[in-house]
Amino acid sequence: MKFNTKVIHAGIEPDPSTGAIMTPIFQTSTYVQAAPGVHKGYEYARTQNPTRSVLEKNLAALENGKEAICFASGLAAMDSILKTLHPGDEVIATDDLYGGSYRLMTKVFGKYGIQFQFAGISDINKLSALITDKTRMIWVETPTNPMLNIIDIQAVCDFVKDRNITVVVDNTFASPYLQNPLDLGADVVIHSATKYLGGHSDVIHGVVITNNDDIASQIRFIQNAAGAVPGPQDCFLILRGIKTLHIRVERACENAAKIASFLADHPKVSKVYYPGFANHPGHEVAKKQMKMYGGMVSFDLVANNEESARTVLSNTHYFSLAESLGGVESLIGHPASMTHASIPRAERLKVGLTDSLIRLSVGIEDIDDLIADLDQALHLV
Ligand SMILES: *Cc1c(COP(=O)(O)O)cnc(C)c1O
Repeated sequence: MKFNTKVIHAGIEPDPSTGAIMTPIFQTSTYVQAAPGVHKGYEYARTQNPTRSVLEKNLAALENGKEAICFASGLAAMDSILKTLHPGDEVIATDDLYGGSYRLMTKVFGKYGIQFQFAGISDINKLSALITDKTRMIWVETPTNPMLNIIDIQAVCDFVKDRNITVVVDNTFASPYLQNPLDLGADVVIHSATKYLGGHSDVIHGVVITNNDDIASQIRFIQNAAGAVPGPQDCFLILRGIKTLHIRVERACENAAKIASFLADHPKVSKVYYPGFANHPGHEVAKKQMKMYGGMVSFDLVANNEESARTVLSNTHYFSLAESLGGVESLIGHPASMTHASIPRAERLKVGLTDSLIRLSVGIEDIDDLIADLDQALHLV
């Protein structure tokens, strides 16, 4: 089955009891048993829910994985993976990581004796220098947030092969339509399904997908034992969103490419971060591992200060000022004070995340309206 058919059909059958074409929302906490232990595979809804099971089958298919395990949020999915580690274990992660992932690692798991190192691992030599015999996990986000650096997933996986190190890829920014890390050798893929998978900014959800039976059973155990499960209505919304994933992401990528070019020529803009540009340092790798270059664009202003960024951010009309990304509507954000406020300023500046950096999540509106909107806001600086 090809991708554009999978989004609509993989793992999805009409409901056997009624023929309903759409997966029903099984809003129940428990299931009646005919006699103790005699049931239809469902005992208690933290452990199993039919709406969730259908979504898990569909998500596994989208990433060419054996198993998908769903969670109440992207961070709950990440939390479950980090819970497979032990005190003393070391993790190497991308340095311009999603702020919430950085916070989860340093503030929650740091307390339990797990060591985290953050580095620009697009350079394999840097990665190599950090690996010790305690390294158990490499955490890759690509494209990175918000600098849109690209990491060569296959190169990282080849490098750590046979070393008993789990490679985890946060594939939220690319979505399974653009990039499939398991095919490139990764052990685990995670998504904040809140973003492109849901696609309509109306639900929080997360997923872990893997081909590794041992990892799958550990994560399945944690899903039930720790209980950060999504409700059936949320699973339904993600299933519904996925049906148009391919069309939404394709349009967002087309719009983003045009906006990146417009910004690159704009007199008020000093720098545009967009992996679709031939002079982007990760362009060749992006071309190899992604289908298109994504719907995210970041840029910096000639007037290199927070006040100018605030002027732009407060004056767009179609680009709404908000955290998050991946919805049908365009969003504009200020990483330094919003998504990345939990990262110390000195750390931010090291990776180019200045006070005037602006991040766009490009939606699927008409491109002329989007460009005119940005243009009028930039001219107020
Ligand atoms: C949003 C996001 C997360 C966190 O997901 P939630 O669903 O908000 O918990 C993690 N990683 C990336 C790249 C994200 O954009």
